[in-house]
Amino acid sequence: MNRVRESAPQLAGIIPYDPKYLSAQMYMSANENPRDVDPDIRSQIDEAVRKVSLNRYPDPLANDLRDEIAQANGLDREWVLVGNGGDELLFDTALAWGGAGRTFLNLPPTFSVYEANARLTNTPIMNIERFSEDFSIDEDRVLAALADPTNNIAFTIIASPNNPTGLRAPQVFLEKLLNSTDALVMVDEAYFEFSRETMRPYLERHENLVILRTFSKAFSLAGVRIGYILAHPAVIREYMKVRQPYSVDAVSQAIARVVFRNRNAFEPAIHDIISERERIISELKVIPGVQFFPSDSNWVLFRISHAEQAWQYLYDNGILVRDFSSTKLLENTLRVTVGTPEQNSAFLRTLRDFALRKD
Ligand code: PMP
Repeated sequence: MNRVRESAPQLAGIIPYDPKYLSAQMYMSANENPRDVDPDIRSQIDEAVRKVSLNRYPDPLANDLRDEIAQANGLDREWVLVGNGGDELLFDTALAWGGAGRTFLNLPPTFSVYEANARLTNTPIMNIERFSEDFSIDEDRVLAALADPTNNIAFTIIASPNNPTGLRAPQVFLEKLLNSTDALVMVDEAYFEFSRETMRPYLERHENLVILRTFSKAFSLAGVRIGYILAHPAVIREYMKVRQPYSVDAVSQAIARVVFRNRNAFEPAIHDIISERERIISELKVIPGVQFFPSDSNWVLFRISHAEQAWQYLYDNGILVRDFSSTKLLENTLRVTVGTPEQNSAFLRTLRDFALRKD
């Protein structure tokens, strides 16, 4: 037969995730670390990878890595689960806590993958938009929505700092939220190394708290695909039911263990990113027609008239940033990932040039 039946109905209208990666001289679009791991760590990685038996299945739970992550967080391994990037654990969240009749509470604008996963799992979505001036959370509406049993909210995901807007969620609010509901509350800390704030101290007291972390940003491993969650053992056990048994391959496990053991070596680069972020903000302030949004992370979101043209001008000059101008609530915005000092200077120079031409 030369035809195929339609795919599952929930796929209708879904656009496959597109990071909008294009080849460029300067990549400032995907919130990656601009520096690869340093040569000393790289040679330790090479040695560890050489020892991996490629013909054998990996440890399904990555227990050695799990132990190291647990220990660093003052926990036992039952409180940790490793995934194929944070993305896999986000999908597992929708599989384990979503489904027909189990509402996902979403706070847009935020990471688009949350909503896509809910749709794929037939999970109803309730959107409570952030305030448009500063993208802070409408706390009263969120608490009221959770308190209303007719909404049947089963889980929510709050990125802190929030991608792509930039700021963290106030801990006082997150604690209130955790106390007000038995819904699962995932706090996505993919960028917490840049904000220096974590919900880890709240973990033992709240069985409904899940913390998501990744090796893709501060630890320069976006190409390797390692993320993890911290949660109560009973919650981790539910995640284990839905995860793919061998999703975290042996090579990635070996690389992540070397990097995690060397994590202190990444601190100077994290400091540099934070101080460069502040430099970008202070220089954006004096570019005519640019409105920036404060950031606790490794990027800065800004609004500019003719944003699409600005994106193109930057791209024509070798600089790839992320264009959010056609995303609801983010009209006329672009997001620049903090790069090396040279890349940041080139970005600022080029954007200033564009703004002055338009003035
Ligand atoms: N959460 C947020 C908010 C992100 O921006 C990202 C990466 N774009 C992730 C999770 C997932 O990252 P990874 O799959 O690379 O661990």
